[in-house]
Amino acid sequence: MKNRYITFSKNIFIPVTNVCRNACDYCGFRARSFEDAYVIGVTEFLNLVHTRGAATEALFTTGESPELSYLSSFFKNRLIEAGFTSLVECARELCTLAIEHGLLPHCNLGVLRTEELKALRDVNASMGLMLETTAELEAHRRSPGKDPEVRLKMIEEAGRLQIPFTSGILVGIGEEKEDRIHSLEALKSLHEKYGHIQEVIIQPFWPKPFTPMWNKKQPSFGEMKDAVRAARELLPDDIAIQVPPNLTSPKELIELGASDLGGISEKTIDYINPESPWPREAELRRIIAPFELRERLPIYPRFIKKGWYSELLSPLIERYADEDGLRRKDGI
Ligand code: SF4
Repeated sequence: MKNRYITFSKNIFIPVTNVCRNACDYCGFRARSFEDAYVIGVTEFLNLVHTRGAATEALFTTGESPELSYLSSFFKNRLIEAGFTSLVECARELCTLAIEHGLLPHCNLGVLRTEELKALRDVNASMGLMLETTAELEAHRRSPGKDPEVRLKMIEEAGRLQIPFTSGILVGIGEEKEDRIHSLEALKSLHEKYGHIQEVIIQPFWPKPFTPMWNKKQPSFGEMKDAVRAARELLPDDIAIQVPPNLTSPKELIELGASDLGGISEKTIDYINPESPWPREAELRRIIAPFELRERLPIYPRFIKKGWYSELLSPLIERYADEDGLRRKDGI
């Protein structure tokens, strides 16, 4: 067990917009008023990209379906000013620019329709959508996009389209242990059909100020351990279990089967959890020793071997990947 390696990626975190049609009780990211709302401009985006340093991944996140939000007029006006007609058109352009600047895109834009997945597929090394839970929860009563059927349908569509995919569950948002098992089983069953899930994140709820769940307790470390243990027992070995090192203590979870620490950035913050800085790479190595830390790309090695990426991404993948499909030690 101690000889296996643990992976992570180096990213630039790009919050494209915080306008969202949902209102999850635990969310500190979404805009609550016109004053809070933003949509990134191309110049601002390029300024971020120019600080990329050694990152290989451009992680794009947004609120979900901003066109359907009550702040949609703000969102649409900003898009039109930037020369775009939709979120997906804007995301595609930013992904293309990211590729030109040496970054492999990973879009996590919330629920997307099949045509939208198709429009983004060739400019993404992988894509993601947290399942969060298959349970119907109080925390999601104002979030139509958190309908588990809707989310599972999109994850299934990504499988049909052979998109290397990241999903995950949230621990501590009001679900029961059985719900977590059910959620993991739902992901397992899609993976058995399509083979496209590269990692499942086990993410703890983290209370955010000014949200309805601000006074709710975080899940205990025991619950996190249970969830990681269950994930490792239930999910096929080719799905990595990811735990975020800025939200939990990874070492014991690695001993229980976690094998990935997700993306960390030296240049940008975690905009979803701005109060929780990522450890630096050297710190991560120290924390998880004697396990070995290895850098990966946003597309996992087996999908590189299977050729699940477009010609647009080939030059970057060939430049960055070593013979194991991980990041070359001398890669720029
Ligand atoms: S969908 Fe995401 S961004 Fe929107 S309210 Fe829920 S957690 Fe926040």
